[in-house]
Amino acid sequence: MLSDAVTQLKGVGEKLAEDLALINIYTIGDLLFYFPYRYDVVEIKPLRELIHDDKVTIEGRVVHQPSLTFYGKKKSRLTFTVEVEQVAVKAVMFNRAFAKKHIDVGETITLTGKWDAHRLQITVSNYKKGPAKEEAIIQPFYSVKGHLTTVKLKKLIQIAMNEYGAQIEEILPESYLYSYKLPNRRNAVKIMHFPKNRIHLKHARRRFTYEEFLLFQLKMQLLRKMHREATKGNAQQYDVVKIKEFIHKLPFTLTNAQETSLKQILTDMKSPYRMNRLLQGDVGSGKTAVAAISLYASITANKQGALMVPTEILAEQHYQSLVELFGANANIALLTGSVKGKKRRELVKAIEDHEINLVIGTHALIQDDVFFDDLGLAIIDEQHRFGVEQRRILRDKGLHPDVLFMTATPIPRTLAITAFGDMDVSVIDEMPSGRKEIKTYWTKANTFDRVLNFIQKQINVGEQAYVICPLIEESDKLDIQDAVDLYEQLQAFYPPEVKIGLMHGRLPTDEKEAIMKEFATNDIQILVSTTVVEVGVNVPNATIMVIYDAERFGLSQLHQLRGRVGRGENQSYCILIADPKGEVGKERMRIMTETNDGFQLSEEDLKLRGPGDFFGKKQSGLPEFKVADMVHDYRALETARKDAAEIIEQNALQEADFQTLRNYLEQDESLQETLD
Ligand code: ADP
Ligand code: MG
Repeated sequence: MLSDAVTQLKGVGEKLAEDLALINIYTIGDLLFYFPYRYDVVEIKPLRELIHDDKVTIEGRVVHQPSLTFYGKKKSRLTFTVEVEQVAVKAVMFNRAFAKKHIDVGETITLTGKWDAHRLQITVSNYKKGPAKEEAIIQPFYSVKGHLTTVKLKKLIQIAMNEYGAQIEEILPESYLYSYKLPNRRNAVKIMHFPKNRIHLKHARRRFTYEEFLLFQLKMQLLRKMHREATKGNAQQYDVVKIKEFIHKLPFTLTNAQETSLKQILTDMKSPYRMNRLLQGDVGSGKTAVAAISLYASITANKQGALMVPTEILAEQHYQSLVELFGANANIALLTGSVKGKKRRELVKAIEDHEINLVIGTHALIQDDVFFDDLGLAIIDEQHRFGVEQRRILRDKGLHPDVLFMTATPIPRTLAITAFGDMDVSVIDEMPSGRKEIKTYWTKANTFDRVLNFIQKQINVGEQAYVICPLIEESDKLDIQDAVDLYEQLQAFYPPEVKIGLMHGRLPTDEKEAIMKEFATNDIQILVSTTVVEVGVNVPNATIMVIYDAERFGLSQLHQLRGRVGRGENQSYCILIADPKGEVGKERMRIMTETNDGFQLSEEDLKLRGPGDFFGKKQSGLPEFKVADMVHDYRALETARKDAAEIIEQNALQEADFQTLRNYLEQDESLQETLD
C-alpha cells in the first residue's frame, strides 16, 4: 500500500530512511509524491544561441584525435576538436583519461558541459557517443538532504513507481479530467518524475496545480460552512443605545472604513452564526478602536470578551489603553504569563464567575486554565495563521464565541482568498485624517554617521529613535550579536547623556518590559532592537525608525516597522540602510520610499518575491503547495475556487463520481465533522 513505510522498499534500510525523513518522506506515497523542484531541459541549440557560462549540450563530429596531458598528482586533461555547424569547437575533459580510447575521429558525439562563448570551448561534464536524441531531454532536480543523493532518490522513485505505481488512485471526478483535459493521477505522477517531453510535463503540472487548489479550496470552504453553522444562544443581544454613547465619547469620530467594518462585525454578532471574520487594516488605521467597540457590544449583551495579542508587552499596552477607554464600563483584567500564584487564581476565578467581563492576554490565554462563564467575542490580534487551531481550542472548552482576527499585514487579494478562504474579511482601507506622512529615505551603509548625527539632532529637540537590526530565524544567536555590536557602536558614538537601550528576543520578559517602559517614558532615547518591536508597540514620541540591513526584510515587514513611528504630532522619518545587490532589492527599497500604502506594498512584495516569502516562512500559515504557485497560477486558483463552491453548494460530494475525492478529504481530521 502507498501508506507502507519506505523501508518496505528493497534497499531502504534504517540509515536511508533517516535521510528520507529529513525531507519528510516516510511512506511509499510520500516518496512517489516527492516532486522535483525544477527541471533542466537539455536540447541542442544553434551555436549562436548558446549563452556564455551556461550548461549546454552540443552535437558534433570529432575531427582530431584527442590529446591527453597529465599534470599534478593523478590529474589529466583530454582535449579534442569537434566540428559543429562547420565551426571548430574545442572540447576539454578533465580527469577522464580513459575516454581517450572511446573517442574516434570521424564519429558523431554529443557533449554536455559548460560553454565558453569567447573561446568556442566546452568543458565537458558528460558525453555520449552518437547523435543527440531528437527530442529534448528533461532532467528533474530534487532537493535532498543528509547522505541522500539525487541519483539514489531517483532510483528509489523508479523502484517505487514499478512496484506501487498501479496503486495510485484517481481522486478527481472523471468528468473534470475530461473537461479540463488533465492526465490521470497515476500518469501525472510518472510524468512528474520521468517527463518525456515538455508538453507532457506541462499537463502533469497543470493537473497537480488544479488538484492542489481544488483540495485546498474545498477544505477552506467546508470549514467556512462549518463555522457558519448556526449555534443557539450565539445571537448577541447587545444594547445599541449604549454602544452609540460609547462611540460618542471617543476622542475622535470613526472613519467611514471603521464604521463599515464595525457594522459588519456587529451584524455577525447579532446573528446566530458564529462570526469568523478577519479585520485587515494598515498600521494605525484604527483597528483597535473597532475592536474595543465590538468588545463593548458583547459586554452590553451580558457576555464576556477576550482580546488576545502576541506578546506580553502588547497585552500590557492594550490593557492600559482599554482601561482608559472603558472607564467604569467594564471590569477588565490583564492575564499574562507573568501573573502568577494567588493573584492568578483569583483572576481566573473572577473570570469564571463573570465578575470580569473583559480579559486581555497573550494568545496562550485560551489554552491555559482559564474558563469563561459566557464568552461572547474573542478577538485575536496579529495572527496570520488560520483560525482553525484557536477555534478548536475554544470548542474543546465548550465555547462558541464570535471570533475576530485582526492583522496589520495587508494581504494582497490574490493571497487573501487563498490564505483566508474560510473567513469573511473586513478591510479598513482609510487612515484617520490629519496624519502626517512618514518620510522614508534609503541610504547606503557608508553614510551611517550622517544618520547618527540626524538622530542626535532629533534627540536634541526631545524626540526618540528606534534602530532595528534584522533577526533571521536560523541564526538568531548571531543576530543578537549584530544587535549587541550595533548597540556598542552607538554607545561609543553618542555622549553619555544619550541613553540607549538594547532589546532582543532572548531577554527575559520582565527585562523587555522594563526597557520598553523606559523607552515609553523617554528615559531611553534610542532603542536598539531586533524585530521584537514589530507589532503594535506604541510610543508616539518616537519619530525616527532606522532599519539596518533593510534588504533582509520583506516589504510588509518594513512597513510594519515603519508604522512604529508617525504616531504623534511630529514629523516622523524612516531611514532604510541597505546595500542590496540585485535589481529586485533596489526596486524594493525604492518602492518603500515611494509609498506609505500597505496594500500597495504587499502587492509589490508578492510580485517581487513570490508567495513563499510573503509572510516569512515561519508564521506563514499559508498552505505549502508542491506544484501550484499562487501568483503564477492565479487563474487555476480562481477556477478551483468556483468548482469547490459548486461542489459544496450542490452537495456533490455525496455523488458516486465524487466518492474518491470525498474519501480523500475525509483523511483530514478537521473536516470529518462537516463531511459526516
Ligand atoms: P491599529 O490598531 O489599526 O494600529 P489603533 O486603533 O491603535 O490602530 O489606532 C491608532 C491611533 O489612532 C490611536 O492612537 C487611536 O486612538 C487613533 N485613532 C483611531 N481611530 C481614529 C479616528 N477615527 N480618528 C482619529 N484617530 C483615531
Ligand atoms: Mg493595533
